[in-house]
Amino acid sequence: MEVLFGKTLDELKQVATELGMPGYTAKQLSHWLYKKNIQSFNEMSNLSKAAREKLNANYLLGKSPFAEIKSSVDGTKKYLFNTTLHKYVETAYIPDKERHTVCVSTQVGCKMGCLFCMTGKQGFQGNLTSGEILNQLKSIEEHDQITNIVYMGMGEPLDNLDAVLKSLEILTADWGFAMSPRRITVSTIGIIPAMKTFLESSEAHLAISLHSPFDNDRKMLMPIQQVYPLEEVLNEIRSWDFGRQRRVSFEYIMFRDLNDTEKHVKGLVTILQGIKCRINLIRFHPIPDTPLDSTSQERIQLFKESLNAKGITTTIRASRGEDIYAACGLLSTKKRMQQR
Ligand code: SF4
Repeated sequence: MEVLFGKTLDELKQVATELGMPGYTAKQLSHWLYKKNIQSFNEMSNLSKAAREKLNANYLLGKSPFAEIKSSVDGTKKYLFNTTLHKYVETAYIPDKERHTVCVSTQVGCKMGCLFCMTGKQGFQGNLTSGEILNQLKSIEEHDQITNIVYMGMGEPLDNLDAVLKSLEILTADWGFAMSPRRITVSTIGIIPAMKTFLESSEAHLAISLHSPFDNDRKMLMPIQQVYPLEEVLNEIRSWDFGRQRRVSFEYIMFRDLNDTEKHVKGLVTILQGIKCRINLIRFHPIPDTPLDSTSQERIQLFKESLNAKGITTTIRASRGEDIYAACGLLSTKKRMQQR
């Protein structure tokens, strides 16, 4: 049976028409689905009994509870959700003073094969639907505290563009979650055609995984560099008017002796010329079977100061949840191993 959660208002109108319900039912449905936190159609108290019966007979609600939860001493939580593919995805909840950020997954595994990534090691197993993306927000314990959303969990969001755009529409529409797009950031490794569509279709911020200013090193870390070289990604960014409110930022995971020297600072300054942006430095959380090492905290600090001194706003992302499989993909991989 088809699922209702994750449908846009237009799609809900079609559902209402199909089931012979009045036009205004679509708005009622979106209200219950996205503004409330119901677990069954029977809770839709302003719908007639007959309407609820029709929904029960023809549709599934599409909400599902989390399967497992791990809590860190620092307040971070990792949730595991079982998907329709019967595989697990991870969702992270990261509280920081007034900010309550949720990091959502968009795919089960990933086909991009980045050398440093545990999700990449799982291989690609399927896309999440818009409902499965949004369910990660509605079905965690902190669902009513969320202030910020980042699409930085398992999978490459722009490799599942349709579902991601649909989830963004539902998140930002008045009839949906009514959230400001300025509180949402979508990350990508730089799939240029999908990135263009995303920039045209959504107002959410963009974060690009950079990781090295140099072609050969980036190719080694991220095979996508062979298809969409960073230079072309940056040219696309340069040609785009982000306006005053919208942000583009660059994620930079730091690997010892590979991308953390003064040569890399100079390389970054050169390639980012003309782009108003911020760089987020991220300490590498080691994963099994990788030749990569983490840069020391001292060197990350020096790298940051060096970039800031050269006029590129740079911050260090605080490492959170180190005691609960901080690297994305580790917890779900462990779960998969247990099931074998
Ligand atoms: S870093 Fe992102 S794009 Fe690369 S393999 Fe991991 S999930 Fe995929």
